[in-house]
Amino acid sequence: MYSLIGELYPICRSITGDGTRQTLALLGQEIPLQVFEIPSGTQVLDWTVPKEWNIRDAYIKDLSGARIVDFQKCNLHVLNYSTPVNAVMPLADLEQHLYTLPDHPAWIPYRTSYYSEKWGFCLSEEQRQSLQDERYEVCIDSTLADGSLTYAECFLPGSIEDEVLISCHICHPSLCNDNLSGIAVATFLAKHLATLNRRYSYRFLFVPGTIGAITWLARNKEHAPKVKHGLVLTTIGDCSGFTYKRSRQGNADIDRVVEYLLRERSEAHSIEDFTPYGYDERQYCSPGFNLPVGVLTRSFYGRVPEYHTSADNLDFVKPQQLGASLDLCRQITSTIEHNRTYTNQSPYGEPQLGKRGLYRSTGGRDPELENIARLWVLNFSDGRYSLLDIAERSHLPFTLICDAAEALLGAGLLRESNCH
Ligand code: ZN
Repeated sequence: MYSLIGELYPICRSITGDGTRQTLALLGQEIPLQVFEIPSGTQVLDWTVPKEWNIRDAYIKDLSGARIVDFQKCNLHVLNYSTPVNAVMPLADLEQHLYTLPDHPAWIPYRTSYYSEKWGFCLSEEQRQSLQDERYEVCIDSTLADGSLTYAECFLPGSIEDEVLISCHICHPSLCNDNLSGIAVATFLAKHLATLNRRYSYRFLFVPGTIGAITWLARNKEHAPKVKHGLVLTTIGDCSGFTYKRSRQGNADIDRVVEYLLRERSEAHSIEDFTPYGYDERQYCSPGFNLPVGVLTRSFYGRVPEYHTSADNLDFVKPQQLGASLDLCRQITSTIEHNRTYTNQSPYGEPQLGKRGLYRSTGGRDPELENIARLWVLNFSDGRYSLLDIAERSHLPFTLICDAAEALLGAGLLRESNCH
């Protein structure tokens, strides 16, 4: 995952353009991707697909011809979606177009101007201080023209049509935690799920933020109710503990599964209620759709100084944190896959487990706990409580509850209920 992030880091992405295509082409070498191109001007829900933006070069040169701000060194230097410019101007005029972070004088901010046409440069406050009162040559060699918006899906069919949606945004240029960490974890989760027998179908979306999610929803309005569980993955490679933001529903299975697993991990984490700002959950959880989609992150949206700056770089994300994030995602999908509801076929008194070889006095990982787990599953499997309900109520690990159900099913003591 970390080396994939290293490959993607230099690419200048935006909500449209060749940067997203290059990104998806690299991901397509890892997982099966279907890429969609939606023409500029297409109406998508209440929005319109914008013009396509591409950039080749940009700089500010001093009178000696030296590039003092250079897009080739860092693509954050250009206000993302800048219109083209080629002019010589005094510092006073140039300053109207400069963005810096005075509180972090060595960092370059990341700024965008998607829906109003203007141009600008982002630079460190230190660079700005060094500008003299003279004339500067500014050039942004970009195009903003009719083209298309690019997004991709990786679809992994399961034995049922109900879907798990995993979404990440692909529209930020050289920022590692915000966008690339989510992309990397989603890609490797898809790789892992592709090797398994799946009950659910999985749909991974790689979309530009906001407009991409809106475009997907506009094109899949009828299909959206198939999504039974969903996660937005982003800012998931830094050293903070996990943060989970609940879906708008607040108590959907995905909310309960993630909260349950985070509690079980006994490491610092936080749970946030849904808010109508943040990432693409805003679209999936808009009231017309109200899909059960939560957000799994580490450092939360906008709460660390590195957010949307050049400090969100290859040092800010760590291979070990990416690994632990992927591991949690695998646990989440495994729990979703195995969460069923059963009905006890011998509900009058406890069935005698000993005569069925199901009452263990020795052996196994912990015979006492295994017996207790079987009693919990038998007692609460009345067609109403799922295995997740039973795990939550018993405070036993979900995997132990699952193993108990499998043993009881094998002995004919349970039947799967279809009312879950
Ligand atoms: Zn962002």
